[in-house]
Amino acid sequence: MNLYKNDLPADIKFKGSVAIDTETMGLAIKRDRLCLVQMCSEDGQTFLVQIQKNKQEEAKNLKKLLTDESVLKIFHYARFDVSILNYTFGINVHPIYCTKVASKLARTYTDKHGLKNLCKDILGIELSKHEQSSDWGQDELSAEQLKYAEGDVLYLHKLREILNGMLVREGKMELANKCFEAISTITDLEIAEIVPEELFQH
Ligand code: MN
Repeated sequence: MNLYKNDLPADIKFKGSVAIDTETMGLAIKRDRLCLVQMCSEDGQTFLVQIQKNKQEEAKNLKKLLTDESVLKIFHYARFDVSILNYTFGINVHPIYCTKVASKLARTYTDKHGLKNLCKDILGIELSKHEQSSDWGQDELSAEQLKYAEGDVLYLHKLREILNGMLVREGKMELANKCFEAISTITDLEIAEIVPEELFQH
């Protein structure tokens, strides 16, 4: 695990795809600040960038990665992470893959699509959710917090691989790709404080 403050070092390059998760002060995009951005490369290396209060301007290399068209950003529930990243850094994260959307499209035989459920059901891995509600804004994160934060990005590449197999098998890959493209619009609405579900309702 590599831990940095406020930006990725310039010499760290990701190829192909990167798994990403965030930790924040809470779930309200405009009220609760971004505290940590966790990343995992295709070869399983993890990089954690702690974002200190009022230091968002320093994240130049991180912003470059998040908007690099040649690197696919894999999230679980991209809607939240992309909203807070776009809002915090004034960017448009792209391209996006979401394992939760992929799971909902591919695994219609269940209604359990949380990351913990996915890891258990399709990888046989137990993921701890213990540190989920903790103070991510503190300057020195605990070893337990860092371990938990890392766990949230470790399996996203593998999940994507398996879910893509199911999506292709069921003829839903094209639809999934359209949904991933739609996430940018949904997060724009989120930031404009327009509820997407209401906008498209009768
Ligand atoms: Mn997380």
